[in-house]
Amino acid sequence: MKRLLILGGTGDASELATKASAIPEVEVITSLAGRTRQPQTPVGTVRVGGFGGEAGLTDYLRNAQIDVVIDATHPFAAQISFHAAAAAATCKIPYLMLVRPAWERCSDDQWIEVDSVEVAASVLPKLASRVFLTVGRQQLAPFASLKDIWFLMRLIDPPAPDILIPQGVILCSRGPFALEDERKLLIEHQIDTIVSKNSGGDATKAKIIAARELGVKVVMVKRPATPIGEQVSDADNAIEWLLNKIYRFLIY
Ligand code: NAP
Repeated sequence: MKRLLILGGTGDASELATKASAIPEVEVITSLAGRTRQPQTPVGTVRVGGFGGEAGLTDYLRNAQIDVVIDATHPFAAQISFHAAAAAATCKIPYLMLVRPAWERCSDDQWIEVDSVEVAASVLPKLASRVFLTVGRQQLAPFASLKDIWFLMRLIDPPAPDILIPQGVILCSRGPFALEDERKLLIEHQIDTIVSKNSGGDATKAKIIAARELGVKVVMVKRPATPIGEQVSDADNAIEWLLNKIYRFLIY
């Protein structure tokens, strides 16, 4: 048996865990950061919580005798990806990133692309009065000082009671979201601007399409850099890569 560590927290990671668990020679362990209260539990063994930086992850890979790492974390989870690439290199084990393609701007889109959530907050006063904020509960604080803007904040879990949040309404729900529902939400709350990370994928894309149809602006946060290394764009290609590695392990 070869031990595969999947760095998870995404739908892609869960799909990969299901598909990799069907390979008889592979034992699957998925690691979750532990951010959401009721995460969707992937197939196979699951461990939860940080490793303690690059050094902690290196120790984990050695102690748990991991043979292969596939990093299927969210495109905005940059820190864990750099730690994982470095730890896998130290342990001399194969490392792959599963990075879903970013959303592409269409001619009808009114996107304002920015480099960070903080920059997104700084540009809002010039262009928005009612904002649909979809950057997650960890990154609400930069918007809290914008007193002339009303926010509809969509989150998986409610924010911690002790953090500063912008004025407006919190909507707790988890994707995938349907286009018809996203249209209704934008109209009902008279949204003029959406703030979104360029997460890519289908689960949360409907808001981008609804914005295009309704002429709503989108402040789109660009993705952070990823480590240098092998990348694929979906679970099927990750499985192909994995089978290739497993085949080599079994031969040599
Ligand atoms: P991050 O900034 O890259 O990581 C911060 C720290 O969280 C890491 O250094 C690591 O702690 C721990 N960590 C992150 N992912 C982990 C994993 N899969 N297993 C164990 N520890 C993990 O990550 P983030 O942006 O906070 O995201 C945390 C998790 O939420 C990720 O797994 C990601 O897939 C998921 N997620 C993130 C977003 C987003 O917008 N950022 C959206 C949806 C889902 P140690 O240094 O102690 O090892």
